This record gives sequence, C-alpha cells and structure tokens, in this order.
Amino acid sequence: MTKRDYYEILGVTRNADDAELKKAYRQMALKYHPDKNPNNKEAEDKFKEAAEAYEVLSDGEKRKRYDQFGHDGVKNGGGFGGGGMNMDDIFSHFGDIFGGAFGGGFGGGQQRGGRRVNRGTNLRVKVRLTLEEINTGVEKKIKVNKYIPCSYCKGSGAENSSSFSTCSTCRGTGQVTRVTNTFLGQMQTSSVCPACSGEGQIIQHKCVHCAGNGVVKGEDVISIDIPAGVSDGIQLSVNGKGNAAARSGVPGDLIIQIEEAPHENLHREGNNLLYDLYISFPDAALGCSVDIPTLEGKARIKIDAGTQGGRMLRLKGKGLPSINSYGKGDLLVTINVWTPRNLSRSEKEIMEKLQSAENFKPQPGARDKGFFDRMREYFQ
Ligand SMILES: [Zn+2]
Ligand SMILES: [Zn+2]
Repeated sequence: MTKRDYYEILGVTRNADDAELKKAYRQMALKYHPDKNPNNKEAEDKFKEAAEAYEVLSDGEKRKRYDQFGHDGVKNGGGFGGGGMNMDDIFSHFGDIFGGAFGGGFGGGQQRGGRRVNRGTNLRVKVRLTLEEINTGVEKKIKVNKYIPCSYCKGSGAENSSSFSTCSTCRGTGQVTRVTNTFLGQMQTSSVCPACSGEGQIIQHKCVHCAGNGVVKGEDVISIDIPAGVSDGIQLSVNGKGNAAARSGVPGDLIIQIEEAPHENLHREGNNLLYDLYISFPDAALGCSVDIPTLEGKARIKIDAGTQGGRMLRLKGKGLPSINSYGKGDLLVTINVWTPRNLSRSEKEIMEKLQSAENFKPQPGARDKGFFDRMREYFQ
C-alpha cells in the first residue's frame, strides 16, 4: 500500500501556511464527512486520509520531520500512528474545525466517545442600541423564531415513553465497529451506526406532532442583559438559548450581534464622544454659557470671552464606559465660530467699521494654537 503525499491529499503546495492548510482540510472534511456520505467506505477513507494529513501538517514539529523524511519521519509520531485511526479521534482532535458547519435545520450531532449527542444550531440576531443604552447597559427582550421542544412529546420525539427500543444494529452503543485484515495487521474502524444515526435507540412510534424530531418551529421571547460599553460589531453569546436540539439534545447558543444606531449630535470615537459646537461671533468675542448635549442630559459650559474657533474643551468622564475596565471616556467639544453668510445693510456697516479696528486683526500667539496643535496636545 503506497501512502499518498500529505500535501497532495489536501491539495495544497508545500509552502501552504496554517490558514491554507486549515481551509483545505475543512473543505475535504466537509466533502467526505460521514454525515453526508452514509455507508460510503471510499468517502470514509478519504475523510480519514485527510485527517491524518492535517494532523501531521498542522503540527510544526511533525511537518518538519515529514518534509525531511517523508512518511517514515512521522510513522510513530502521530496520535493516529499505525492505522487504527477512528472517527472519534478525528472528531475529538479537530472538532473546532468543524464548528457549526454541520447539520442544517435544528442541528447536527456530535460524537462524544460513544453515543451521539444532538446539538441545536446557534441562532444569530442583531440588536440595535442607542448610545444612551450603550452608556448605561440595557436589558432587551427579543422575540425570536426558532426550534423549540415539541410540547406533546416533551422533546423526546416519541409517542410515549414505551416507544423507544434499543438499536439492535449497534446494541445501543451508537457505533458500529469494523475489523479489516490488512497486511499491516488488523485495522479497527468505528463509525456512526447507520440504523440509529448514532443515538443508540430507535423510536418505534414517532410523535405525530413533530414527526419524531422532538422539535417544532416556534417563538421564544428571550431577555438579555447587555453590559455597558459594547460597540458596533461586538458579539455576545447566550448559552443554550439557540435552537432546541433534536430529541432532547443540547440546545445551541444565541449569538447577539450589536449594532450601534447613529446619534443625532454625538459621534463616538472609542470611548470618547465628539461634539461640534457652533457659537456666534459675538458670543465668541463676549463670552457666553451654552448647553451641551450629553448622554445623561444637558451640561452647561462657559465659553470665555475671546475664545478662538477650533478650541477643544474636554468634559471629563462624560464619554462612554469601557466594557473591559473601570472609568469612562470624555466628551470632547470642538468650538466652531459661526460666520454669518448673508449680512443686512446695517450689519455690513457695523462689520466694515470693525474690519479696520486694530483689535480685530488676527494676532495668533502661544495662547491661540490652531485646531491641529490642540488635537496633537490632547492625544499626546
Ligand atoms: Zn413531538
Ligand atoms: Zn444503532
């Protein structure tokens, strides 16, 4: 029996990096997965072959030895050593690669040593939050459409408790073991029992309301506590609130993706908030008090007489809390001086008088740095 080259098996070049290997293996595993190819020996072999190749190539040490010495270099190194590799090993080694890729609808299964445990699929929902809600944290009740346990059979899928019988093909173990004689010796392979799909028992009389699945399409109202300080794109996961699993398995998770609604006045920059304030030219020259919108109502600030446009004020702690640590960001107010566009004749006359006044000539000094200098100073 000539062993095929591991790179060839996965269809990658010898320079393939970890991500390429993982991707290639995942594709092979999906294609030849026993769930998709029941009772197909060739697919099973391909599935195992790919797992063995990936097991070696994804391990830096083993890959080095394989590159140098070929199959001889890794003969005894791998956990799958001299054949006898079985499906359980593959699933327990590489379960993370399969992730939620299997099982559409209400869920696939996971092989855990012996019997198969059905697992519900994860449910994804988007939740849109205002900056005010993000500031305080919020409890949201959301209605989701999902698979829920069938109320007639309590999720068992059977008409009644005596409808179950132990699977005769696998004698309840959920697995069938095959022993083949090769010139390398006996090879033992086990795979999911085709008669009971690995569940170990068979339902004689299926519940008519859910066709034996144990789950039906339904609705659920889920209340979730969203912590303060989340940001757009963050995902929160609520354990066990996803789709119910077939026949009393483990439900999937509810994955909440946070969306941030744009705020009318405030712009978020990390945990800081930015606000563009416009004041009139007389207010800048004479000084004034103005109300600044914050996430907790208005804050009154004083503008000194002779304030230049571009000046930045910092309202400490009026920004957003951090999701990971204590403390809050700031609210940064940029002062813009509003220049009127259409002057009346009398306004124009006043302006023309001021135009030549000595005081109105720009005389920037150390105290009157421009916007960029201030930004630089602030962020230093
Ligand atoms: Zn039912
Ligand atoms: Zn069985």
